[in-house]
Amino acid sequence: MSRIVYVNGRYLPWAEAGVHAEDRGFQFGDAIYEVCEVRDGHLIDEIRHMQRLERSLGELRIRAPMSQSALARVLRETIRRNRVRDGSVYLQVSRGARPREFLFSDAEHMEPTLVCIARTQSRAKSDAAAAAGIAVRSMPDIRWARCDIKTVMLLPASLAKESAKEIGAKEAWLIDEHGFVTEGASSNAWIIDQSGCLITRQISNDLLRGVTRTTLIDLIKRVGLELVERPFTIAEAKAAREAFTTSATAIVMPVVKIDDTPIGNGAPGIATSQLRSEFHSVAERARR
Ligand code: PMP
Repeated sequence: MSRIVYVNGRYLPWAEAGVHAEDRGFQFGDAIYEVCEVRDGHLIDEIRHMQRLERSLGELRIRAPMSQSALARVLRETIRRNRVRDGSVYLQVSRGARPREFLFSDAEHMEPTLVCIARTQSRAKSDAAAAAGIAVRSMPDIRWARCDIKTVMLLPASLAKESAKEIGAKEAWLIDEHGFVTEGASSNAWIIDQSGCLITRQISNDLLRGVTRTTLIDLIKRVGLELVERPFTIAEAKAAREAFTTSATAIVMPVVKIDDTPIGNGAPGIATSQLRSEFHSVAERARR
């Protein structure tokens, strides 16, 4: 089946879905994005993803390309045209195109570029990955000081994942200059200590406020597990009972190895697997 991509008001065949050569997203990484899970044809946690999109736009003073309700229609239409039942939908907004120039405040009339891509991802494959657990590789966090904004400046994340892959790891855990884990290259990082307490880094400009993280905190509170939001070191993570990552595409993904160290008994943890299986009972399921 041919894939259809939304670009600035048009639904185009994948091969024709281009943006301008002088788009600021392309030249300056001047763009933000969101990725939302699609499950049984429903958007998961759409409200929180759209709230974060609005915040990212606001922090960078990029104009909203359209109203929230129009955006909601674009998401649904892109999902529909690509017949996605389980997978994800990607939304990117750049400041727009203009002759290359660092400054942008003189061009507030610029039309933002809006791209929407929907993609099928096998739920069985993701569940199989979760049943096995993933390995992560630790490495220095070389990103900028505003990781709270979901920008497309993903080169450090891309390099980190490539280097994780070299040792057979699926994700990189990024370490700040004080030796603490900030987050994963494309996920938030969590551990469960020997007393069963969940630990994840508190929100700041150093990491992204993951929507999955926020919804998981709702679940943790509902089931009455202990949670502490604070930084943890990689040594602490290696000594943890369980570890996992959260993201909209992988939900709760058990971590069974960090660098050369198996976590717990080297298999996905019980609490982690339970949180994964209960996640969608608390997540918001949008109307189609
Ligand atoms: N941190 C980073 C750096 C990410 O790229 C992502 C995935 N977009 C996350 C955390 C997880 O965020 P979410 O749960 O909203 O997908």
